[in-house]
Amino acid sequence: MATGLILAAAGRGERLGSGGPKALCRLAAEPIVVHAVRGALSSGVIDVVAVAAPPDRVDEVAALVAGEAEHVTVLPGGAGRPESVAAALAALPRDVDTVLVHDAARCLTPPEVFAAVARAVDEGAAAVVPGIAVADTIKRVEGDRVVGTPDRDTLRAVQTPQGFRRDVLEQSHATATGAVTDDAGMAELTGYPVRVVPGHDEAFKITRVVDLLLAEAILARRAEYAQRPRPEADRP
Ligand code: C5P
Repeated sequence: MATGLILAAAGRGERLGSGGPKALCRLAAEPIVVHAVRGALSSGVIDVVAVAAPPDRVDEVAALVAGEAEHVTVLPGGAGRPESVAAALAALPRDVDTVLVHDAARCLTPPEVFAAVARAVDEGAAAVVPGIAVADTIKRVEGDRVVGTPDRDTLRAVQTPQGFRRDVLEQSHATATGAVTDDAGMAELTGYPVRVVPGHDEAFKITRVVDLLLAEAILARRAEYAQRPRPEADRP
């Protein structure tokens, strides 16, 4: 059996204002979608990849990721993220029994997050999310009035990749309706328990210009670190 990665990369990226789809916006000279595929594969837990691309840029995305993965399909995304994920899910080979759903916009997610999510599904979880503690106090509001303050210790900001048994993801997409903003939310609505594993600060979603600046800084630091001479003891 195999693990498949669905990469949701079909967004228009309007909040970024880069003048084109976010997945094709360049970070340290490479498009976001290339960073995303490369980062996910570096975890060593993914066998096959399905990328939902902007419908008018499928060939371009396919050419960009062809050299990154051996088993990769690029297909046109849908009108919204759920439609893009559903289209990519249908394109995964039948021997894929574990599916990780990932946002291309979280292209700096470290490999250990993919590994932890896949491991939790292997251990029997139906659905898994990486989550991090929230730094801000969160208020519930109605109009301009605060109507509640949830206990911050019980809150997690949820990231991707989110992991699923394939049958769970298929059933969740077939049954969940309404305003759900992530795949684990669909599994929850369908009645499945969702497990939380540790997320990572660098798995943030590139949404606004300030996120691009942060991403560039992280990549520069990683490149610097990779070039640093290693102590004798660490050399092969
Ligand atoms: O819009 P948002 O930031 O929530 O998008 C999260 C991810 O979903 C992005 O990586 C984006 O490319 C993807 N997406 C998609 N298909 C859409 C809309 C968004 O694959 N129709």
